[in-house]
Amino acid sequence: MTKSIDFSKHSSIKIGPLLDVFVIEEKSYPTNHYILGHCNNVLISNTPPSLMVLGKNFDYIKEEDNLLCIGGATAGGRVLSYCKKHDIQHFELLPKLPGSIGGMIKMNAGLKEYEVFNHLHSIITENGEILKKDIPHGYRWTDFKGIVFEARFEIHQGFNEEHLEMFKKMRDNQPSDPSAGSCFKNPKGDSAGRLIQEVGLKGFQIGGMAFSCKHANFLVNLGGGTFDEALELMKLAQKKVSEQFGISLENEVIIIDKELSPHL
Ligand SMILES: Cc1cc2nc3c(=O)[nH]c(=O)nc-3n(C[C@H](O)[C@H](O)[C@H](O)COP(=O)(O)OP(=O)(O)OC[C@H]3O[C@@H](n4cnc5c(N)ncnc54)[C@H](O)[C@@H]3O)c2cc1C
Repeated sequence: MTKSIDFSKHSSIKIGPLLDVFVIEEKSYPTNHYILGHCNNVLISNTPPSLMVLGKNFDYIKEEDNLLCIGGATAGGRVLSYCKKHDIQHFELLPKLPGSIGGMIKMNAGLKEYEVFNHLHSIITENGEILKKDIPHGYRWTDFKGIVFEARFEIHQGFNEEHLEMFKKMRDNQPSDPSAGSCFKNPKGDSAGRLIQEVGLKGFQIGGMAFSCKHANFLVNLGGGTFDEALELMKLAQKKVSEQFGISLENEVIIIDKELSPHL
């Protein structure tokens, strides 16, 4: 089954074409398609590879053998509500990580030392269950093959309201304009936002896209911004930071384009 998605409305950065996307309802899928979650960390061009998303069958939360088993398509907000209701801790960071559980696992999304992998037990892909210890992972990266159909987490009782407040405050400086979250990964011991600011690009705008005045590492769409404008800004920041500091900024946002990202 396919469905039509207008990525200029659906993606958090409000860029992308209207496309027919394959919907996975069982644990089989076309091998030449690229998997998307809820599109909060992606920048989609007008010429992406064929795309697919998980369907409703993968939107669930259940408890089994003291594990919280969450379908890959389940939104973080739904998981947070469940954990609040059932007094489960370690998911209090979710209000700051928009997206699906599948996308969060793939990105090892998180805030500072709090990462989605911290209390992960295992994932279920088409190759069966893979334990956390067998998945290489680190700051905003993971290395595993296949699609996260389900993620399983250890259950620890005691929803922590103080942590919830702490995470809310941690990101008070986050811009509300459409973005895909942090544009670049923080280089070790430094911050991408600081470097972008130092090279004079905080608030710098090309067409409808800009590095936010509020937080320089957020590439924001101020209205009608395009893929090309976003890419131009990213390249400019990389060039200036490399020239001035000898540091190469690595993309955190994933560029989805047939030619620019042939590895997808
Ligand atoms: C305003 C804002 C603030 C943000 N703040 C943070 C933050 O503080 N910390 C942080 O870490 N992130 C942050 N992000 C980024 C985003 O929340 C996370 O990266 C999230 O994990 C993206 O989930 P998604 O479902 O939208 O994934 P998508 O953006 O759709 O996809 C991201 C990646 O995951 C892969 N993927 C998606 N689903 C699956 C699956 N089922 N199986 C295998 N691979 C899959 C995709 O192929 C892609 O490589 C922010 C984003 C926004 C818009």
